[in-house]
Amino acid sequence: QKEEWARLKDAKSVSADGKEVLLGANIGTPDDVLGANDNGAEAVGLFRSEFLYMNSNELPTEDEQYEAYKAALEGMSGKQVVVRTMDIGGDKELPYLPLPEEQNPFLGYRAIRICLNRQDIFRTQLRALLRASKYGRLAIMFPMIATVQEFKDAKAIFEEEKANLVASGVEVSDDIQVGMMMEIPAAAMIADKLAKYADFFSIGTNDLIQYSMAADRGNERVSYLYQPYNPSILRLIKNIIDASHKEGKWTGMCGEMAGDQIAVPLLLGLGLDEFSMSATSILKTRSLIKKLDSKEMKELADKAVSDCETVDEVVSLVKEFTK
Ligand code: PEP
Ligand code: MG
Repeated sequence: QKEEWARLKDAKSVSADGKEVLLGANIGTPDDVLGANDNGAEAVGLFRSEFLYMNSNELPTEDEQYEAYKAALEGMSGKQVVVRTMDIGGDKELPYLPLPEEQNPFLGYRAIRICLNRQDIFRTQLRALLRASKYGRLAIMFPMIATVQEFKDAKAIFEEEKANLVASGVEVSDDIQVGMMMEIPAAAMIADKLAKYADFFSIGTNDLIQYSMAADRGNERVSYLYQPYNPSILRLIKNIIDASHKEGKWTGMCGEMAGDQIAVPLLLGLGLDEFSMSATSILKTRSLIKKLDSKEMKELADKAVSDCETVDEVVSLVKEFTK
C-alpha cells in the first residue's frame, strides 16, 4: 500500500472514469510547503496566515508578511497557493490586539469582521500579498464572509490597494483569483448570489458544521453533533458547489472533511473541484479517488442528499457504493 502511494506522488488525481480533481495541502507556515511537495500536493488549498500574527509580540510588518508569502509561492513552483487573510478571533487571541470581551467569541468580532473594521491591519496584509504575487500563482480568500456586502467591501479594498501599488510602479500579478471561505450557513444559502462576485469558494467544514449544527467545534459534550455526513450538511455543500458551477467558478474544500475517506466519495459525486487537507492524507485520498467512478458517486450523492434521513443511512450508502 505504501508503495502504491509513493507511485502516486507525481500522478494526477483522477477517478476511474477519468474525472480530474485537484488535491491540495493545508499549510500553516511557509516551511510546510516541503511536506506538501513530499506528499504530492498539486496546490496549497489553504495557507492559514494566522501564524504570522500568533508567533509575534506585535502586528507583523508588511515586509515580514511579504517574505513569508513569497517563500510559500516560490516553494510551490507555480502551483496555486490560496492564502486566507487573517482569521483571528473566535478561539484565536492576540496578546497585542486586545479584543472586547464577548459572551460568544465564535459568534463575535473575528476574521473579516475585524479586517473590515481595522483596515490598517487588512491593507497591510493585502499589500504584502500583492507584492509577493509575482513569485508564483497566488489566490486570496476571505474568511467568515456572511453577506454579499462583506465580500464586495473586502474585494473593493483589495482592488484599491492593487491600483495604488500598480500606480506607484510595483509589479503585481494580473491574475490573482479572489475568493471566499464558505463557512457560514447564511452564505451557503445565497451561494448563487456570492458566486457572481467571488472567483471561487472554499468550504470550511470545521466552521460550517459548527454553525449549522449550533455545536461548538471544541466542546466534547456536543461533539456527537459534529456530523459531516449529515444530509443537512451535504445539502449545503451541494448548494455551494452547484451555485459556483452555474457561474463558471470552482469550489474547493479546506475543512477536515475534505480528507475524510467516507466523505471523499460523496464529495466527488457532488462535483467538488479541489480537496485540500493535511499533507499526510493526500496520497491515500488520491489512491481512493482512482478507484471511484464519478458517475456512480454522483448517483450516491444524489441519493444521500434526497433520500437519507440520518448519518448512519449515509454511511451505509457510501459503503454499498464503494464496496
Ligand atoms: C474551517 O473552518 O473549516 C477551516 C478550514 O478554517 P479553520 O479550521 O482555520 O477555522
Ligand atoms: Mg474556519
